[in-house]
Amino acid sequence: MNPMNPLKAVRGTRDLMPPETALWNRIEAVARSVFGRYNFGEIRTPIFEDTALFARGVGEETDIVSKEMYTWEDRARAQSEKTQSLTLRPENTAGVVRAYIEHKLGETGQLQKLFYIGPQFRRERPQKGRYRQFSQIGAEVIGPAHAGAESALRDAEVLEMLATLLDELGIEGWTLKLNSVGSAADRPVYLAKLKAALGPVVGGMCADCQRRAETNPLRVLDCKVPEDQPIIDGLPRIGDSLDAASREHFAAVRAALDAAGVGYTLDHRLVRGLDYYTRTTFEFTHGGLGAQNALLGGGRYDGLSEAIGGPKAPGIGFAMGEDRLVLTLAAQLEAQQAARAELADVYVAPVGERQNAAALALARELRRAGLRVELGDGAFRVKKSFEAADKAARAIVLLGEDEAASGMLTVKDFATAVQTKVPRAELANSLLAARAETK
Ligand code: ATP
Ligand code: MG
Repeated sequence: MNPMNPLKAVRGTRDLMPPETALWNRIEAVARSVFGRYNFGEIRTPIFEDTALFARGVGEETDIVSKEMYTWEDRARAQSEKTQSLTLRPENTAGVVRAYIEHKLGETGQLQKLFYIGPQFRRERPQKGRYRQFSQIGAEVIGPAHAGAESALRDAEVLEMLATLLDELGIEGWTLKLNSVGSAADRPVYLAKLKAALGPVVGGMCADCQRRAETNPLRVLDCKVPEDQPIIDGLPRIGDSLDAASREHFAAVRAALDAAGVGYTLDHRLVRGLDYYTRTTFEFTHGGLGAQNALLGGGRYDGLSEAIGGPKAPGIGFAMGEDRLVLTLAAQLEAQQAARAELADVYVAPVGERQNAAALALARELRRAGLRVELGDGAFRVKKSFEAADKAARAIVLLGEDEAASGMLTVKDFATAVQTKVPRAELANSLLAARAETK
C-alpha cells in the first residue's frame, strides 16, 4: 500500500461525527418517543437479504432493483450450503414483511405496528441529500384484513402520526402530498387507458419515458424533464379509473385527515417508484432540500405479502430519509442563527409613559457603549413591548418606576429565556458580553 495515498471512505458513504451525531441521536429519540405514543414496537431486520426478496417485493422494473442494488454471489462454505445471491437492503419494507411472514405474525390475529431505524444501500449518483449508504426511519402497519388492516383509518392515523413527528422534530414548512393509485383491480384499467394515450405521443418524449412506456408506464408520471410536462399533463388521470371501493377508501382517508386538522395537497401524479403500492400514496416534501425535496414517502401495499409468498396481509407504511431530516434541521438552525445576528442587542422598554424620558437617557448610554438599541414606548402595555422586543432584539430591558428608583434593571434574554436583575452601571458590559457569546 502506498503510504502517500491514505484510504478514504467509499464514494457515497461518509463518517458522522460529533457534534453532528448529537443531532442524529436527538432525531432518533424524538422518533422513538412518538412511535411509542402511537403504540409501535421496534423491529431490526438483517442488513442483507436474499436478492429474490427485493426482486419480487420491490419490483424488477423499479430503478432500485434494475440499477441501484449492491448484489453479490455469496460463495458456499460447505457442501451443505448453496452459493446464493445476496443484496444489501435498499429499503426495509420488504424485510419487515418477510419477517411478518416468517414468524407467522398474521396468526396472532393482531395488527402489527412496527418501526425501524437503520442504514439502507443504493448505488445512486451521490449528491446533496442522496448517498449510497443512508439511513431510514420507517414504520409499517400490517395484519390480516379481519384485524382492520385495510381500513382507511389506518392510513389517516399513519399520516397524522407523521405530521406530529415532523412537528415535534421542529421541521418547519413541510407539505403532505397525497394521491390514490387504486387497487390491483383498478390498475389494469388505468394502464390500458394510459398505454393507449401514450401510443401517439411517446415518440416525442425523453428516452427514459420511451423505455418506461414499455416496461413500467406508470413511471412516466414521475418524469421531471421540462419538455415532457405538457404531454404528461394531457395523459389520463389515475383518479378517474378508480372503482367505487377505492374512491370511497380515498374519501375516508381525506375526511379523517380533515377532521384531525392535518393539511395536505392532492397530487394526481404521485405514483411513487415502488411497484407494491396500492390505493393511498404520499410524500412529505420540504422546500429547503432543493432537487432532493422528499423527506419521506410511503403508501399502502395490500398485495405485497402475497407477492413474496405470504398470506394476504394488507398494510401501510412509510420511510423517512434521516439524512434529509438532519440537513433540513441543520439549515433551519443556521437560518435562525443568521436571523439572530441581524437583531438589535437590546430593546429598552419604558413601563408607562412617565418613564419615556428616562428610557431615552438609558438608550443613549447603551448606544454610546457601542450597543445596537431599539427604544420602545411607555404607551405600550408590557405584553406588547415584549412582543415587539422579541421581533427586534435579542433581549429586553424593562425600565419602570421601581427600576428607576433602585437602579436594578430587569433583563430578559430571548434565546435562553433567562431573566436577571442587573445593576444599571453593569448593564452595558453584560449586554456586550452576551453579544460576544452569540457571535
Ligand atoms: P427519491 O425520489 O428522492 O429518489 P425515493 O422515491 O427513491 O426518493 P423511497 O425509496 O420512497 O425514496 O425512500 C423514502 C425516503 O428515503 C425518501 O423520501 C428520501 O428521504 C430517502 N432516500 C431515498 N433514497 C435516498 C438516498 N440515496 N440518500 C438519502 N436519502 C434517501
Ligand atoms: Mg430514489
